[in-house]
Amino acid sequence: MTPSACRALDRRAFLKSSSLAVAGAGLWTLPVAAFGPAEAPGSPRVQRLTWAGLKIEMEDTTLLIDPIITDIWQGNRSFSMVTPEINTERRYVLLTHLHNDHYDRAAVAEALGERGRVVCHEGIVEEVASDGFRVRPAAHYEPIRLGAFIATALPAVDGLGVKGGQVSWAVRGGGKTFFHGGDTLWHGHWRLFQQQYGPFDAAYLPINGFQLQGMEPPSTIAASMTPEQAVAAGVLLGARVVTPIHYGVNDPEFYVEYPEAEGAFIALAQERELEISVLAPGEWAAGRP
Ligand SMILES: [Zn+2]
Repeated sequence: MTPSACRALDRRAFLKSSSLAVAGAGLWTLPVAAFGPAEAPGSPRVQRLTWAGLKIEMEDTTLLIDPIITDIWQGNRSFSMVTPEINTERRYVLLTHLHNDHYDRAAVAEALGERGRVVCHEGIVEEVASDGFRVRPAAHYEPIRLGAFIATALPAVDGLGVKGGQVSWAVRGGGKTFFHGGDTLWHGHWRLFQQQYGPFDAAYLPINGFQLQGMEPPSTIAASMTPEQAVAAGVLLGARVVTPIHYGVNDPEFYVEYPEAEGAFIALAQERELEISVLAPGEWAAGRP
């Protein structure tokens, strides 16, 4: 599979999955009517944003997960900065955690405008609210209705630890399911997530296995998933396609990534016959006109 072939989502498989996604879904067993009519006109469209950022939009609702518009890397990066556009009335920013490459106050303020809300784990509500944002707290495993979508916060942790806790997000809408891993480490919940919320039409997973320099004593352990771990997580999640996120920083005195993370991820995914879609910031997943 060439990288360009990887870019093409199998649209037929994507559509076919919508009927499967409801079956056996523990906490997703809300009334079908909650998602609108079976032949709802809306179909979610997904755009990768900068770093770990993701936009999912459908009908009158836009979800931004970990949007960032501030160049905290001061140019030491191989990716572009993309300012998300929002064209819907309802808008929500879903946060995975408070680290500054995931919680960018400027990006949140610009996205939410007067009426939007942040949705985040209950452990960080106080801090986010103190920044002046309206907040909807989320407990682990609690499905939350957000306009055209239902989002559920799932346990996650990165290798640095962060005040108030961290989550990944499972998002469902228009019969599609998505997983966003933020910058999580490998853990033991993948099969559980697959059973309760999957299989996922698409999973967005960190791959850069980074280590911060200058912390004493050093852990010597990667602080987010490595390419190999991201591929394994994608397999266990039952993801029909995995898009790598959270990589491309070049600042070796401070932040060291897994070498050639994207290439390693592509090769390892091929070995395990995992379908992937490499998207640059600003690119839309297949299906976008
Ligand atoms: Zn982090």
